[in-house]
Amino acid sequence: MNKLLITRANFKVVCSSPNEYYFFDKEGVSFKLKAQTADEAYRLCAALITGLPVSNELSDSFELHGFSLQSLQASQALLKHGVLEIIDNLPDFTDRLNHEFRREIEYFSDTANIGTSGSECFERVRQSNILMIGMGSLGSWVFQHLCANGVGKIVMVDGDVVELSNLPRQSLFDHQHLAKSKVDSAAEIATRQFPHTTISPIHQFVESINDIIYLIAKYGKFDLMVLTADFPRWEIARWAASAAKSTGTPLIRGTSQGIGPLFLPGQSACPYCEWAWFHEKEPNAQRVASLTAQLPRRSTGALSTIVSMSGALLAMQSLTYLSRVSLPETINHQLIIKLGGLEISKVPYSKHEMCMACAEPYTEFVGN
Ligand SMILES: [Zn+2]
Repeated sequence: MNKLLITRANFKVVCSSPNEYYFFDKEGVSFKLKAQTADEAYRLCAALITGLPVSNELSDSFELHGFSLQSLQASQALLKHGVLEIIDNLPDFTDRLNHEFRREIEYFSDTANIGTSGSECFERVRQSNILMIGMGSLGSWVFQHLCANGVGKIVMVDGDVVELSNLPRQSLFDHQHLAKSKVDSAAEIATRQFPHTTISPIHQFVESINDIIYLIAKYGKFDLMVLTADFPRWEIARWAASAAKSTGTPLIRGTSQGIGPLFLPGQSACPYCEWAWFHEKEPNAQRVASLTAQLPRRSTGALSTIVSMSGALLAMQSLTYLSRVSLPETINHQLIIKLGGLEISKVPYSKHEMCMACAEPYTEFVGN
């Protein structure tokens, strides 16, 4: 099979004289391609933008396409600098799915490390199986972004129904969904809007570690668990983190307070580590938490702009992790959006060695 030599899309090509082309990267660093004639320079540049088929020997391929030794040497230099990349094959954009997701595949090609193919990144997203716990304001935005970017399978769990006061922030739903199950409504919408994603709706609340473990056992291996349910506050983080650890399932948490951490069992901090840090700082943490839990609940003020932004960040972190396009920012970190402004900060979040959910040895009882 032919390999293709192609300009990485994060380089902008500019013609400076009839037989000279400059390739600029984001920092404005330029690399020059100079050919013998203006015609050859144009032909080579055009071929490199759309992809020039080459065999294993570059020199043979260049000769076959009628390019001079000078063009070959210039291209080899550009290849060395990472301006050009060799990929085994371009996705077939006449295929309907590839055609529909062309810009998404190109996004991965543009942002992946050299040597990582955009279509491979997209394929990982396509093959992903995700467990979503929570289909509230944040969850419904994450859901839309994951489906819109080609995720293959989503199992979603929530026992809530759509209420009138949800509609302004949960654009997925409208008045015809009022009093209906959120997950069933989302699944019904997805069959029309996102037919390439297989949805399994489960209308129930998660109430224990074993509820989550049961879902993982029933629906097979999940590539990622996305937790947006935030009640009961501490317990739900512990249940999800413990289930993630005992099954080896990566977990990302998002709340109105922040996005992250992304918990990679055995490697990074879990969402429940926060409790251990709180406990260390506040000896009466247990009492404080139980007294606080008895207070009447007051919902947090929110705008659709806030939840859509948080949902986009959480979905982006999930897609970055699933595609392996680069390292997600939320490993041992949280992204905090400052309400009332435009500031998003990346804050360190560390693993606690005494965390009941993720510390070694495993201390949480999991079983029947
Ligand atoms: Zn932990």
